[in-house]
Amino acid sequence: MAQRNRFWRCGSGRHVVGQVQRSIHRVPQLAVYRHAFDPEADDPAEVDIVHVLIGRSPVKCDLCGSVRLWDISVDGMVYLFQHLNEAQVLEFSQKLQAISVEMEE
Ligand SMILES: [Zn+2]
Repeated sequence: MAQRNRFWRCGSGRHVVGQVQRSIHRVPQLAVYRHAFDPEADDPAEVDIVHVLIGRSPVKCDLCGSVRLWDISVDGMVYLFQHLNEAQVLEFSQKLQAISVEMEE
């Protein structure tokens, strides 16, 4: 399973902490492994995925302690936006407009 997807490495670049995959909605997401591994030394037959990220989140390597930020894609933001209810869309739009006004000032 892991080989079919693109490995995602920790902040040091030495260890694999997860794999990049696409959801059924074609949204890029990071499947985070319970334990990182060194691809030069280990070739785990199976990996244990503890959670799947769409949004922005720091990911810590349990081998070296380095932290790397997984960032949300535009497709991910659109996907999340499409799942808001009406009140959330209104609040989101207001905040976006406020940010836009701040940027113009
Ligand atoms: Zn590491």
